[in-house]
Amino acid sequence: MDNRDIKQFKDVWVFAEQRQGTLTPVVVELLGEGRKLADKLGVKLCALLVGSKVKDLIQTLIYYGADRVYFVDNELLEKYTTDGYSKAVCQAVEKYKPEIIMMGATHIGRDLAPRIASKLNTGLTADCTGLEIDPEDGKLRQTRPAFGGNLMATIICPETRPQMCTVRPGVMDKAIKDTNKTGETIEIEVDISQKDIRTKVLEIVKIKRDMIPLTDADVIVSGGMGIKNAEGFKMLKELADVLGGTLGASRATVDAGWIDKSRQVGQTGTTVRPKLYIACGISGAIQHLAGMQESGMIVAINTNPNAPIFEVADYGIVGDVYEVVPQLIELLKDEVR
Ligand code: FAD
Repeated sequence: MDNRDIKQFKDVWVFAEQRQGTLTPVVVELLGEGRKLADKLGVKLCALLVGSKVKDLIQTLIYYGADRVYFVDNELLEKYTTDGYSKAVCQAVEKYKPEIIMMGATHIGRDLAPRIASKLNTGLTADCTGLEIDPEDGKLRQTRPAFGGNLMATIICPETRPQMCTVRPGVMDKAIKDTNKTGETIEIEVDISQKDIRTKVLEIVKIKRDMIPLTDADVIVSGGMGIKNAEGFKMLKELADVLGGTLGASRATVDAGWIDKSRQVGQTGTTVRPKLYIACGISGAIQHLAGMQESGMIVAINTNPNAPIFEVADYGIVGDVYEVVPQLIELLKDEVR
């Protein structure tokens, strides 16, 4: 494949990551964003589905906007392996030559995308938070935080194709399901054998989570340095539980060792868009706001009436978290009773 012969490459592809037959949530976000890019370019939005016995997912991908689904069904691809999947994806790309490939910046996407980009000798922008088509030349403008989140860099891949990116989960708008949508399916036979796969997955051990992941939660109760100590998160967890939500945190509390890094919201943490975000004792630094300001409704509790968090809040409560939160918990418990 001559990857510098740009004119040969067409269409926008979304890698339809699935685990044990379930699509990862970011795929619906990629299809939402991919639709916009494909429409701007006047090309097809396609999904690439790789696995074994996952044919049932094809219809879902079409309902969420795929005009065409490329489908690789091979029992050697039942479980994810870097070798197996990179070989399958590269063969599909070499045959059908997409112009853009989008993947979720999940553990699998972060592992797979660089392998493919390097095998195809093309560029990759990892962890994008913004994508757009340049109106002048149709190139993909890929934006991501750089230098530890201190500036946003917009990157292009001018000489080679495909243009590849991984996209942060939780950032892009989800595609809307349309059960009237139709699309075509193309099955791809890949040339792959057991000896191509150097790793063997012996067992998949799922970590038992006692809390909903940040990106899946409709309600996030988030704590900052204003809660004073790690114990404060117990009170916030109680509020989150009453609301059926989960815990978030500012980076300062993570750095203080009060809560796990997986809970950090912000530019160097997770980007979230819950229906309700309650910021408790969080000042509202720009890096924190970058990760939560698209939430449906923001409630802020802070003793300082001039805290920047109030600038993005829909409802602001000027007060001490240790006075306000217990009252909220009691009120909400009464509602539920
Ligand atoms: P503070 O700024 O100390 O604010 C504490 C707040 O609590 C204050 O507003 C205070 O008025 C209020 N308060 C005090 N007591 C009470 C009380 N009893 N009741 C109610 N309110 C009270 N930060 C992130 O969060 N996420 C990121 O991803 C992130 N990435 C970063 C990347 C870079 C490159 C840099 C330089 C910084 C980053 N930061 C990030 C850090 C960020 O700049 C702030 O330092 C951090 O968000 C502050 O956390 P905080 O609001 O908990 O603490």
